[in-house]
Amino acid sequence: MKLRGYVAANWKMNKTAEDARSFVEKSSKLLLNMEKAKVIFCPPFTALFDMDKSLQGKPWFLGAQNMHWEASGAFTGEVSSAMLKASGVQYVILGHSERRHQFGEQNDWINKKVLKALSSGLKPIFCVGETLDERQSGNMEEVLKTQISEGLQGTNDPSGMLIAYEPVWAIGTGQNANEEQIEEAHKLVSTFVCDSLGDIGKDIPVLYGGSVNSENAGSLFKAEGVDGFLVGGASLEPESFSEIIKEVETFIKE
Ligand code: PEP
Repeated sequence: MKLRGYVAANWKMNKTAEDARSFVEKSSKLLLNMEKAKVIFCPPFTALFDMDKSLQGKPWFLGAQNMHWEASGAFTGEVSSAMLKASGVQYVILGHSERRHQFGEQNDWINKKVLKALSSGLKPIFCVGETLDERQSGNMEEVLKTQISEGLQGTNDPSGMLIAYEPVWAIGTGQNANEEQIEEAHKLVSTFVCDSLGDIGKDIPVLYGGSVNSENAGSLFKAEGVDGFLVGGASLEPESFSEIIKEVETFIKE
């Protein structure tokens, strides 16, 4: 049994505000009386404000998929922490592999975002993970260490922060990491987080992400050091997403 379990949905560039509304409605019916898992919906920016209203009275949280570290200014296409907060957002995904690899985000940018999110009262879902090349060339440990030490530099109070270990080769590929690989990586992540933050790092939940679905969620959640999941593809349908939540709920202590 576990004491806690998070299930965060990363919808990426999918769903309009209307799609999001009907998703929440369907999920409410599928997840009656399921309140043990902490469920976080991360829709695109355009659905946040509306979704905050749909989530009123539901035991679920709202997250965004990115933000800028500056408060305001000439940053075309960007969104600030204050804008997210005003839209009802509590969590924000930072350093997602697609941001790192498709949009060139580096550790120093991600670090500024983490610091800004925390000082604004937003909870970062800070993502780290190695590519297949990095794993196969024996550099996984070094990559995770660098992403964590540079990404968390200067963090004094990480209250509410979540870490997501997401091996790049497992994201959206249908090839999840196995329990052994996850346990090894989560142990490393926790060690590096404690190296950066001290003992307080031990309390930070570490989620796994990468091709989690309703079939593998039960066994992956049992892996040591896994406090929940960040889910992409399987979070896009209410049925598959609620099955994952149910699997997690089964293993959370009353
Ligand atoms: C993700 O994008 O964070 C993710 C884990 O995607 P998927 O579940 O589709 O692998």
